[in-house]
Amino acid sequence: MGDLTRRAWLGGLSATGILTATGVARAAMGPNDKFDLVIKGGEVLDPSQSLRARRDVGIRFGVIEALDPEIPATRAQRVLDASGKLVLPGLVDLHAHTYPYGSAIGIPADETVPFSGVTTVVSAGDAGANNLAALRRHIAAQTRTRMFAFVHIANNGLSAFPVAELYNIDHAQVEACALALAENPDFALGVKVRMSENVIFKHGVEPLKRAIQACEMSGRPAKIMAHIGGVETAELMSRILDLLRPGDILTHCYSGAPNIGGQFTNIVQGGKLLPAALEAKRRGVVFDIGHGGGSFDFTVAEAAIAQGAPPDTISSDLHVFSGNTPGMPFLPWVMSKFLPLGFTLEQVVAMTTAAPARVIDRGAKLGTLQVGAPGDVSVMEWVEGPVGFVDTRNNTRSGSAYLKPVHTVNTGVVFGRPFQSPFAVR
Ligand SMILES: [Zn+2]
Repeated sequence: MGDLTRRAWLGGLSATGILTATGVARAAMGPNDKFDLVIKGGEVLDPSQSLRARRDVGIRFGVIEALDPEIPATRAQRVLDASGKLVLPGLVDLHAHTYPYGSAIGIPADETVPFSGVTTVVSAGDAGANNLAALRRHIAAQTRTRMFAFVHIANNGLSAFPVAELYNIDHAQVEACALALAENPDFALGVKVRMSENVIFKHGVEPLKRAIQACEMSGRPAKIMAHIGGVETAELMSRILDLLRPGDILTHCYSGAPNIGGQFTNIVQGGKLLPAALEAKRRGVVFDIGHGGGSFDFTVAEAAIAQGAPPDTISSDLHVFSGNTPGMPFLPWVMSKFLPLGFTLEQVVAMTTAAPARVIDRGAKLGTLQVGAPGDVSVMEWVEGPVGFVDTRNNTRSGSAYLKPVHTVNTGVVFGRPFQSPFAVR
């Protein structure tokens, strides 16, 4: 095969793949064609199209084909009863740790689905340049939950135990990280860097500077996900904020964790939002929750929100340790904590669907139930009654309702139900 022919052939292959992935090339449905799955009788709440109404969702070939007031059951191969339930776009979790067997804190994303309702998850820096390929080939490829990743600036990835990944700054290799980004543009969203004193010790802004260099060197539109909480000094917090670029992500944005010396060096200090935090917010830095086991403080959140820095995305930071803490950082539970903080259900759903999908910016129509989107749906129960929430610093708040996952559908296939035969989609 000559070079030209070969290039044309390879080019043709990739074009076909893109068409299929976006759903553009799917066959039109005839009036008598059946949907593979109809989610019936629920109240659809989809902030991406400002929709909250009784709708049936028709899915065929893994893609949403119809969102109608009524789809007759006779047009469905299978029906999922959602009456009395909320039907949301599949939830998108921008910060979790989903590298089981490859990391000391990793969990298998699929196993958490009954408690999370998540259909798309981002591995937040579990892998660095040395072990990203294994995350992609051995974990993401075997996982039904859609997975993307931030590549850690440390070659060895997020490795907290027994010594954190950036105590030795030599782990942060710009070229290796940039190459990993450049080689995985469909999977790798950018660079993760943990800036807490107990991770980087006395390295100041150097880890973040290297992470930004790696993004720039990759030649891709790569983003930073900067983890804060307990940074070395109050001044360092402002320097971190000043370095973040529009579109970069500040995760654990409402952390109230102290540094090694017990000082509180977060975005709210002495009850006041740092000017640098407000500036970052104004220039388009994404404020992400990353609740986790030690990174969400109601008092920080309330002050920041009141002073002009509300969250953009709500994420769980779920891993093997945080999942067993009283704050219970499963995404619907974390979402529910924002209701007593004054956010509407629509806003909370937007911050776990359309908003993180915009940050991911890969593939077509994630975080929406629009026709042509992947058949990713989270069916939730809206449970009313007094409910108590706790953050990661033992502050409590009470609410009047919470979201409870009932069914999760990924690419048209319901978790926990027998697969259709043949099992043509994920
Ligand atoms: Zn994390």
